[in-house]
Amino acid sequence: MPEGPEIRRAADALAGAVVGKRLQRVFFGLPKLKRYERQLDGSTVESITPHGKALLIRFDAGWTMYSHNQLYGVWMVGKPGERPATSRSLRVELESADAAIRLYSASDISLWPGEEVLQHPFLQRIGPDVLDPALRAQDVLVRLKSAPFQTKRLSALLLDQAFLAGMGNYLRAEVLFVARLDPDLRPADLPAARLRALAKALLAVPQHSYRARGIEPSRRMKAAYTVSGTGAFRFQVFDRAGEPCFECGTLIQRVERDGRRLYVCPHCQGG
Ligand SMILES: [Zn+2]
Repeated sequence: MPEGPEIRRAADALAGAVVGKRLQRVFFGLPKLKRYERQLDGSTVESITPHGKALLIRFDAGWTMYSHNQLYGVWMVGKPGERPATSRSLRVELESADAAIRLYSASDISLWPGEEVLQHPFLQRIGPDVLDPALRAQDVLVRLKSAPFQTKRLSALLLDQAFLAGMGNYLRAEVLFVARLDPDLRPADLPAARLRALAKALLAVPQHSYRARGIEPSRRMKAAYTVSGTGAFRFQVFDRAGEPCFECGTLIQRVERDGRRLYVCPHCQGG
C-alpha cells in the first residue's frame, strides 16, 4: 500500500498536469455524478491535495471533488482525447487544452460545495495528513498527549489513520528508529523530551521521504535502501532484518506488531 510520501508524489503529478488550467471537457462515469459535468465544464482546477488516502480536487466553480481509490482505483495522466487502452472503467476525466487526468475503477467519488467536503465521514475520521505543510511538531505533540492516543502502544498508534493520516508500515519503522523508541512503549510512558523527539520524527521522516521522491511502490523495497548518499532516503531499519544497524552495528530484527512486519535495532531502540 502506498504511504503518505508516495500518495503526495502521485497527487503532485496530477496537479502538474491540470492545476491552474481551464477544463475543456469533464466526464463522469458514475450516473449519480453526470449532472456535475456541465457545472464543471469551463472551470479551472485550483488544487489537488491528498488527505490520507483520499484526494481532494478543488475547482474555481466552487465545487470540491472527493475521491478515494480504495484497493482498485488508479489515476493516470495523459493527453486530451487519447484514452489509454484499458479494460478498466473510466470514472472521472478532466481535460485541459494540453493534458488530461483520468480516474479508473474507483467508486468512492463525490462532489461537495467548497469546504463542506471536510464534513465527509472519512475525512472526519482521519487525523491531519502527516505531510500537510501546515502541520507543526507542536500539533503532533498535543495529539500524542491526548486521549485516546496517549495510552496506545506506539506500534499501533503509528499505523492509526485517526492519529496521523498518511502514516504506514515503512514510515512506522523508520520514525521509531529515528526517535530511538521501543515500539511497545506508549506516549504516556515517555518523558517530555522523548515525546518532543517523537513529534519531530513524525514530521521529519515522511518529509524526508517525500522530498527524496519517496520510495517507488513498484520497486522491491530492498533496492530502495541501497540508494544512499546526499539527500536520498535510505531505510535505516525497514526490510533490513539481519543486517547491521548503521548507528551501532547490532543486527536489525524483524518482529510482528499489529499484524504487520516491523523492524527494530534492539540496541538503539532498547528500553
Ligand atoms: Zn543500532
